[in-house]
Formats: sequence, structure tokens, C-alpha cells
Amino acid sequence: MIGNSYPRFIMIENFDGLKVLLSTPHNITITTHQNPDGDAMGSSLALYHYLLKLGHTVHFIAPTPYADFLKWMPGNDKVIIYNYNTADAKKAAEQAEIFFCLDFNAPHRAGDVSALIEATTATKVCIDHHPQPSDFADYLYSRTSASSTAEMIYDFIEYMGDLNMLDEAIGSCIYTGILTDTGGFQFPMTSSRVHKIVAHCIDAGVNNSHIYHTVFNSYTENRLRLVGHCIDKMKIYPEYNAALIALDRDELLRFQVKTGDTEGIVNYPLKIKGINFSAFIVDRTELIKISFRSVGSFDVNQFSRNHFKGGGHTNAAGGASHDTLFNTIKKFEAALPSYKEQLNY
Ligand code: 5GP
Ligand code: MN
Repeated sequence: MIGNSYPRFIMIENFDGLKVLLSTPHNITITTHQNPDGDAMGSSLALYHYLLKLGHTVHFIAPTPYADFLKWMPGNDKVIIYNYNTADAKKAAEQAEIFFCLDFNAPHRAGDVSALIEATTATKVCIDHHPQPSDFADYLYSRTSASSTAEMIYDFIEYMGDLNMLDEAIGSCIYTGILTDTGGFQFPMTSSRVHKIVAHCIDAGVNNSHIYHTVFNSYTENRLRLVGHCIDKMKIYPEYNAALIALDRDELLRFQVKTGDTEGIVNYPLKIKGINFSAFIVDRTELIKISFRSVGSFDVNQFSRNHFKGGGHTNAAGGASHDTLFNTIKKFEAALPSYKEQLNY
């Protein structure tokens, strides 16, 4: 069991130089991956609040907009969205003396912000739980056994000796990152430590029940009807224990789909006993976006890398296609037979 073999103490190696750097005020910029999810926003804003408390000047650049159900987060009004405010984002990046990259393992995952990461002369720090990190940062804290990057921000604050500074704002952001990346405390990386961190957050004033409700139960009517529609059209491949849901442009218009509305749809087929692998393909016009999820040993990170130039974790990954929706579905279906044995467990 991953949870039980979890290290008692988290090692952040070779961060002593950064600790010294952070002992005097600096200009710090934080960024995360494009289409930021709850963990990307939660870990970034938790670090934002912590660094502000240390007395630094801090900016947070989100490469693209994010879902409405994350906009209640403390610090939301200070987020610089690169798409909307490119000049401020570039200025923040240019001023940075320390550049934190959270919840991604390679610069290209930050979309247009990757150019700012590559151009900066700032000290780069990467904190992330995705496998196979590329070598782009001066300080790397990579741990694939972490439930979320938000958990690793807690580790980082602990490493800094500052857990007494964890307050409601920092705790609410950490809680949100953990909550979303563990699917509400269900995924295998939900260790006893995760529950202890959450307990600490609640003791610091975090309203866990309210946040849970706000994040998971704030659908519009259209969004819930879209879920119904997706379940209705879901395709099952019984011989591969696999399922697929695909949405075309007309359907996105019909259900007035907004950023974040399709998040989580990929998980529904896994509610069926015996389904080990779920794919969700959506035609976003500029590209076809693909999400993969699995339960158990099937490695969707590898599947996505092999067929869709994507990546992610063992049980949650994504990729893209510049082909048509029809051809992308065919490509997915053509790939399944070679995984038949891996998918039967
Ligand atoms: P989602 O399906 O929620 O978009 O993404 C699931 C996981 O896969 C996340 O950890 C995300 O960072 C990763 N991921 C999603 N899309 C891509 C992609 O196009 N390339 C890579 N390398 N990772 C992705
Ligand atoms: Mn994450």
C-alpha cells in the first residue's frame, strides 16, 4: 500500500541555497501549467500567500483562464492571466529574481508562459509531482508519491520551518489542491499524511465542508445536463475494459460549454465495475484535447506518451491531437488491441 509505505519525513534535498535566498526580500514570480486545475491554482496561491507573509514581492501568472468554481480562492483578484494581461505577465517575469514553476514537469506545459521561463535569468524552482521531470530548474523538488503539488507546498513550508505560519488563506488553497487532485480523497496517493495535512488546515480555520461544496457542487444546469448527455453516449469496449466519451463542436455549443465544464467527465465511466480505462476526447476547434484516467495498474501516462504526445501520471494523463475528431477516435480505438493484456485485471 502506497499510503502505508509513505515516508515519515519528506526530503527536500539541496534546497539550502534557496532557503538562504528566501531569508531576504526578493521579487518572486510563480507560474503553473496552462488550463490550470484546482491543484495548479491551489498550490500556486498557497505559495503566493506564504511568500507574501515572508515579506517578498510576489506575482502569480496563470498561463490561461481557469474554471469559475476556483474563482472564490483567496488571491484570485491578484492572478495575472497571461492571455488577458500579457504586458503585466511579461513585466512580472522580467522583474523576477526567483521563478517558481508549480505542478508541471517541462516548460512547454506552461503554454505561452514557457517563453518567459526560458528567457528568465531568475533562479528557477520547480515543485511538482508528475513523473519524468525535465531538467530546467535550478532547484527541483519532484515527488511522484505526492497526492498533489499542494501537498508539496505544505512539505516546502515545513522544510522552511514555517508551519506555524499556515493560516486560513494558505490552508484553503492547500486544501483545494489536495481535494481536487485526490478526487475528493479517493485516489491511491491519499496517504495518512494527506489526512494529517488536511486536519492541520482545518485547525488553521479552513472551512473544508464549504470548500468541498463550492468546488464540486456548483454546476450550472447546462453542465449537469452535459454530464447526462455524455453518460448517454459513452461507448464501452468490453474486451478491453475500456470506455470512451467524445464531444464534437456542435455539442459544445448546444450545452454552452465554458472553461471547466468538461472537467471530471472522464471519471464517470470508471464508476462501472470492471472498467479500468476511460478516455474523454473533446474537439476544442484549435485542437482536440484528450483526457485519460485508469484504476489500478494500467499506465495512462505511457499510453498518452505513446499515442498522443501527451503525459501525466499513471492513473491520470492527457494529450492532444491536431487531426479530426473522427480520426482521433479511430486512432484511440486502433491502439486498444495492443493493450488487451495490460487492461485485463
Ligand atoms: P487532464 O485530463 O485533467 O487535462 O490532465 C490529467 C493529467 O495529465 C494532469 O496531470 C496534466 O498535467 C496531464 N496532462 C494533460 N494534458 C497533457 C498534455 O497535453 N501533455 C502532458 N505532458 N501532460 C498533460
Ligand atoms: Mn497536480
